Amino acid sequence: MEISTQPPRGTSDILPGQSEHWQRLESLAKDHLQRAGYKEIRTPTFEHTELFKRGVGETTDIVSKEMYTFSDKSDRSLTLRPEGTAGCVRAFLNAGLHRQSPPVKLWYQGPMYRYERPQTGRQRQFHQLGIEAFGSQGPLIDVEVIVVAHDFLKALGIEDFEVQLNSLGDQACRPAYRELLREKLRSRLDKLCADCKDRFERNPLRMLDCKVPTCQEQYKDIPSAIEHLCDDCQTHWQKLIELVEAQGIKPVINPRMVRGLDYYTRTAFEFVAKDKRLGTQSSIGGGGRYDKLVEMFGGPATPAVGWAFGVDRLLMLLSDTTASTLPAFVVSSNAEKALGIATDLRRAGITTELDFPGQGQLPRNFSKQMQQANKQQAAFVVILGDDELAKGEATIKDMKDGSQKVVSQSELASVLGIELQRK
Ligand code: AMP
Repeated sequence: MEISTQPPRGTSDILPGQSEHWQRLESLAKDHLQRAGYKEIRTPTFEHTELFKRGVGETTDIVSKEMYTFSDKSDRSLTLRPEGTAGCVRAFLNAGLHRQSPPVKLWYQGPMYRYERPQTGRQRQFHQLGIEAFGSQGPLIDVEVIVVAHDFLKALGIEDFEVQLNSLGDQACRPAYRELLREKLRSRLDKLCADCKDRFERNPLRMLDCKVPTCQEQYKDIPSAIEHLCDDCQTHWQKLIELVEAQGIKPVINPRMVRGLDYYTRTAFEFVAKDKRLGTQSSIGGGGRYDKLVEMFGGPATPAVGWAFGVDRLLMLLSDTTASTLPAFVVSSNAEKALGIATDLRRAGITTELDFPGQGQLPRNFSKQMQQANKQQAAFVVILGDDELAKGEATIKDMKDGSQKVVSQSELASVLGIELQRK
């Protein structure tokens, strides 16, 4: 059988031309998150299956339908991570980070895997950027994580999005609300989709964010969790909204937003961008509070809050950004000399290219080399013709206005450095 050059369904290659956008986003994310005190954590891309079953929740679509689970040669059941929080919580406990003074603030990024039906904005291998803040209970830290996400989007140049907020209650008020939902919906079960029927017993809250319009029709008059919060959850919720607004963010209250993971308590939020480039996938990121997860993994009671953004989706919103230009391209009648000068410039910190023809002798004629420089959108071309080589000089040509300047080769890097700063 011939080897297929197609990547597996639902995955894609990140090619030159695209990877620059990824690098820009990653470096901006790193600066932005570290400025707010979040430190990077890198956890394995696969974990024991049990971690996700318990951590994400057996009733979720992720665990029940979408996991890439396999047995290794020692018959351990392992799963490619479908999300980042469960691994972070495991590592947090394993490394004893719960003994550090709170809050412990982490960020991560990397590929995630879900066996979903691929479509625009939805892949089987996708990439998330996320933060987790452990050890602080009040709404202040919820607001910090929301503001950090909001300002990150703005820094990327993404302007058109909503911050949707909801509260899902906690163990004091959620059981009663869950029962209320069952009571109200039992008689309507035959009008609901198969997924909702299934969720009715296992996780009725998830019924509310079903995307099927006929189900939504049935949920129209159903009271929201916000109307049934206990006093503590109500106080947290009111303060959260007040503080988010005080930071200049106008949240959209969405009582139907439940989110796909079981571990949330109280605060849940989603960043939604209504942009046609995302197809039907308008959620670009989301998160919430998960005060019980660390305890469920065998650790001490530790409140926590976090979010994850889909990097692939964020980049779809940035696809208009123009390709970056190349600072310098060396053109010469002597290929070895061209490589030597390019090396000098690179050592001086200037990104530089030169001509390497696929076939034939080096160097190619000047116009072929200039064509390459143009193709790569060089800001400056450094010309080393016979004349320049004989005198130990170089001509710097500004490709935008065509102006030229002759300098000695020894001062080339510093003059070019100054010219580039002026751009
Ligand atoms: P979740 O972990 O489901 O809360 O998802 C958080 C974010 O990850 C979403 O808002 C999306 O931006 C992104 N995401 C989730 N699933 C996928 C997928 N299958 N393909 C691409 N992005 C995804």
